[in-house]
Amino acid sequence: MNVFQNYINGEWLASKSGKTFPNINPANTDETVGLFQSSNADDVDQACSAAAAARLAWADLPATKRGEYLFKAAELLEDRLQQLGEEMTREEGKTLPEAIGEVKRAINIFRYFAGEGSRQFTYQVPSERENVLCYTIRKPLGTVALITPWNFPSAIPAWKIAPALIAGNTVVIKPASLAPLSSYRLIEALHEAGIPPGVINYVTGSGGLVGDALTSNPEIKAVSFTGSTSVGSALYKKVSERRIRVQLEMGGKNPTVVLSDADLDYAADILINGAFFSTGQKCTACSRAIIERSIYEPLVERLVEKTRKLKVGNGLEPGVQIGPAVDEEQLKTDLEYIDIAGKEGAQLLCGGKRLTGDNYDKGYFIEPAIFTGVTSEMRVAQEEVFGPVLALMVAEDFDEAMRIANDVRFGLSASIVSKDLTRVHEFIKRIEAGLITVNLPTAGVEYQLPFGGTKESSFGMREQGPEALDFYSESRTVYLKYTQ
Ligand code: NAP
Repeated sequence: MNVFQNYINGEWLASKSGKTFPNINPANTDETVGLFQSSNADDVDQACSAAAAARLAWADLPATKRGEYLFKAAELLEDRLQQLGEEMTREEGKTLPEAIGEVKRAINIFRYFAGEGSRQFTYQVPSERENVLCYTIRKPLGTVALITPWNFPSAIPAWKIAPALIAGNTVVIKPASLAPLSSYRLIEALHEAGIPPGVINYVTGSGGLVGDALTSNPEIKAVSFTGSTSVGSALYKKVSERRIRVQLEMGGKNPTVVLSDADLDYAADILINGAFFSTGQKCTACSRAIIERSIYEPLVERLVEKTRKLKVGNGLEPGVQIGPAVDEEQLKTDLEYIDIAGKEGAQLLCGGKRLTGDNYDKGYFIEPAIFTGVTSEMRVAQEEVFGPVLALMVAEDFDEAMRIANDVRFGLSASIVSKDLTRVHEFIKRIEAGLITVNLPTAGVEYQLPFGGTKESSFGMREQGPEALDFYSESRTVYLKYTQ
């Protein structure tokens, strides 16, 4: 059995607790992918002290030199692409092509932010006074804490680690306990790239214990969190008392609006991709399809027909399109929401059952489910399920579609399927979402642009793209008179 250690001050260390926890394959619960450290507050303190001690030397290094470590780590990860993809499928359940795609994205993110080492733009403006230069510089924040979820176990850690490091911060990261191996591989690559001790530290263990110790540690000057709205909101309450910088990326209830002029097959494919791929376990997954009445029946017919053909199974098997739920708890949540939707009066059109028999018995497999007759007041239209459950809602016209689309507390991503440029632009103007796609699924964003939502989906500055550096650095303003 592989036992994976914490990484603190450049060394691989067992937790002082002497305890480990298993990382179980959700497609085959007989398989333990590895044992990880059940860390305690002492481990967290040690990691934070190491990161604080490394802070000044790392901040003094030219940003281009910091970037060299990221470039080298990207190269190492690329050499191991297949292995890392397979490991991700085994720990998280997503299909192998999805997992390999995600590792590629993490590599691109490392390279993109490595390049930012030579592009950390600040500005100079004319002064009102003679012989005075006015300009800004960026300063790192110090030591930052990164807390990440299980659903993108490589890309999300990468899109926090890379901008934090290139801006000159030192890092302590706590990955999700359900999928800690993919981020372990990022840390391993940085270690092999020769990153100085203490610059990056990795501590695994329960959110309640490790997450709490980390966010309360006085060395931590900022927290970047991605996860559920409930955990993020509680974390914010606690951390904001210390007035340190916080960034929260949380849940979604993302709509796809399909207008009457849409190509129906195209629209059905977009809905299936957004709602069911990665087993609906994307924060940007589509969970509400809002369809104009005139095309409702024919579109739903196509959607159900295509959904019934989806192949659910172990993501390592060729041809499988939908993997398992990540664990028993998530499967239970999916089934509970399916039950609730039925009791609230929505009608199940297909799927919605746990799959059993043969290899299905060893994992947490569920058929993708589609409900018709969903209305805004139902819980399935309001609450994040985080599983392959799609709620279909009918709209009499564009205005009603917009009303329904915005009638939720979340605002992460939203899409529209239409060829009508006027209504598409109106959608872009009126939709309450941070990520807007047109004739594309709600999910599938790119690393070189800002990422984040509005309303209760997000709080604080954007991640990814050039804006990511704003969170991890502080602007200082300089007035310099060059004569006396
Ligand atoms: P979660 O339960 O909120 O956990 C997220 C992270 O927080 C994990 O590392 C978890 O550790 C840790 N944590 C738990 N309790 C904590 C505490 N008291 N203090 C500090 N940290 C704590 O979320 P999840 O189930 O991993 O991920 C699914 C959720 O993430 C969904 O709601 C999804 O929408 C959201 N998400 C959002 C985005 C986005 O960018 N908006 C992207 C991906 C996912 P343990 O794993 O040890 O519990």
